[in-house]
Amino acid sequence: MLQTAAGKEYMKDSNCIFCKIANGEIPSRTIYEDEKFRVILDLGPATKGHALILPKEHYANLFAMPDELAADAMKLAKKVASVQKEKLHADGLNLVQNNGAAAGQTVEHFHIHLIPRYENDGQTIGWKPEEPTSEELDEICRELTEN
Ligand code: 5GP
Ligand code: ZN
Repeated sequence: MLQTAAGKEYMKDSNCIFCKIANGEIPSRTIYEDEKFRVILDLGPATKGHALILPKEHYANLFAMPDELAADAMKLAKKVASVQKEKLHADGLNLVQNNGAAAGQTVEHFHIHLIPRYENDGQTIGWKPEEPTSEELDEICRELTEN
């Protein structure tokens, strides 16, 4: 547990680099901070202004996040994205949020990537579309909706 100046205790994993960054033990280029979150510049940015929203409490991924904190994170993403768009004159912006190694997550502390996009920035954030049959899509839909 970490004691903050405000006297609040946070769940913290002592081996987690994002816990240390979010709670100020390791310095970072912080572009926003409040009681629940720190927003930092990514050290390996996809584009100019690529930022990460880090909750100060440790949750490994989206599945572990309390609903309210997840909702707060999305509200904050909208706020920071608007600042990035305006101040960096971004033409677009990707929100990316990886959960699990299979999905590309390398740091197991929940974070949202805010990636400003610029015309012809040369980055690709995407996937190779598959071509499921109509029956396959029906089956997946059934799997996801049956009780
Ligand atoms: P993931 O692949 O887990 O979704 O994203 C992890 C991100 O964290 C990567 O974009 C990587 O560049 C960034 N990152 C890893 N270590 C550090 C660090 O110590 N400081 C900062 N600012 N970014 C980091
Ligand atoms: Zn952590």
